[in-house]
Amino acid sequence: MPVCEGCGTRTDDAHVARRATRLDLASRLRPTRIRVLLLDGAPPSRIEDYFYRAALNPADRSLGARRYFEELMKAAGVPVAAGSLETALLAEFQRKGFFLTYAAECPFEEQDDPKGALRRLAPTVMKRVQSVYDPAYMVPISQPTAELIRLFGMIGWGDRLVLENGLPFSDSYGVDPRRSPGTGKSLGERIKTALAYLP
Ligand SMILES: [Zn+2]
Repeated sequence: MPVCEGCGTRTDDAHVARRATRLDLASRLRPTRIRVLLLDGAPPSRIEDYFYRAALNPADRSLGARRYFEELMKAAGVPVAAGSLETALLAEFQRKGFFLTYAAECPFEEQDDPKGALRRLAPTVMKRVQSVYDPAYMVPISQPTAELIRLFGMIGWGDRLVLENGLPFSDSYGVDPRRSPGTGKSLGERIKTALAYLP
């Protein structure tokens, strides 16, 4: 069985192939100059749900993945209308200097030890962000990136980090307005608002 270069898990060829597909799709839509780097914990396990895999039909994505896609577009100020082509939306996302990457290159569900992997991968992630992406701003999303915030703070990246109350932006609330009555602000709107105040 091959060992995945992304997560170090002893796995099957399909896992290795899915990782290669994700890296390939993302690299085609990476802006030359990244203004805002969105850093999430790990990609979804279904390849059809992967952000950079443009769905030809909206139903290709699961409900959660479609919502996630729309929220990130909202964060970048890319309007999503009924019938919008995902290829066009992704191109606009890129044109605006936005890029999404993950601390772990493989889904947590497909790894033997996701927590250990994140800890092990932290130095690699930091190097990748600093020397390859070098964004003007970085927006951590979801709880697994919390530990990285501390590490980036230690290397003087405090000014580039865009946080929500000192924490990563979380989609555990806010996406569903019924769960956050009063505020009603979705993940994408909250990120967009935070970015609007930056130079
Ligand atoms: Zn892997």
